[in-house]
Amino acid sequence: MSTPSHPASSSFAGWPGGKRAAVSLSFDDAAVSQLDYVVPILNRYGVRGTFYVTPGDGSIFVQHIDRWRQVHAAGHEIGNHTVLHPCSAKRPWITPDLALEGYTLQQIEAEIDDATRRLQELLPGYEPTTFAYPCGDTFVGDGEDRVSYIPSVARRFVAARGVGSSDNDPATCDLHNVSSWLVENVTAEQMIAMIQPTIEAGRWAIFCFHGVGGDHLRVEAEALEGLVRYLKEREDEIWTDTVYAIGKYVAQARTSPAAK
Ligand SMILES: [Zn+2]
Repeated sequence: MSTPSHPASSSFAGWPGGKRAAVSLSFDDAAVSQLDYVVPILNRYGVRGTFYVTPGDGSIFVQHIDRWRQVHAAGHEIGNHTVLHPCSAKRPWITPDLALEGYTLQQIEAEIDDATRRLQELLPGYEPTTFAYPCGDTFVGDGEDRVSYIPSVARRFVAARGVGSSDNDPATCDLHNVSSWLVENVTAEQMIAMIQPTIEAGRWAIFCFHGVGGDHLRVEAEALEGLVRYLKEREDEIWTDTVYAIGKYVAQARTSPAAK
């Protein structure tokens, strides 16, 4: 039931500790450059990141599992990104067997649960985390049979990350498809400029990185470090944490369940 007489923001209790806004740094596909460059930067500044990985047999994640265990043990989030990374057939690199157009809900649910099981086996003390839609695509099937798999994700995770063009209003965002900015070849100054409206409006910004200092969709390590340094210097006003920590907080801080 909705309460249209109230502004939407009235259903959010506000950020903890008097902070003005929230930022999450997320990193996809277990690119090795993340181990080489991202993790040392985050650890040096004491900032936690979210890493969405595909833990299939022989995957790049499993090949470097010893290093990923250290990342997990250091307090970073290792999130579910399915096992095989299925996306829409529209993506040029997707083979027919990995096209979501050919998936059923049962298939995608089984694959998500398989990824969780694998992460539990690979990472000691693995706790619930969040999900990231491969390529940001949220459907299975085609034509009349196309359906969203967001409800399947919502039954399994407190929050899930999509890809979009905006930050997130904590009062109204879809917690099971929160928007993130997929960045490539940007400077620290550009990313810092992106979050100024987020801070002004008290919202939640999520960056989606791939390669850092190397690999595909690359952002230079100096650019990431500049952003992390900025966030650390302003930790009194900006809450920087994992998608899980902030998503869980937002879920609990929506004070008016009847308005959802
Ligand atoms: Zn991905």
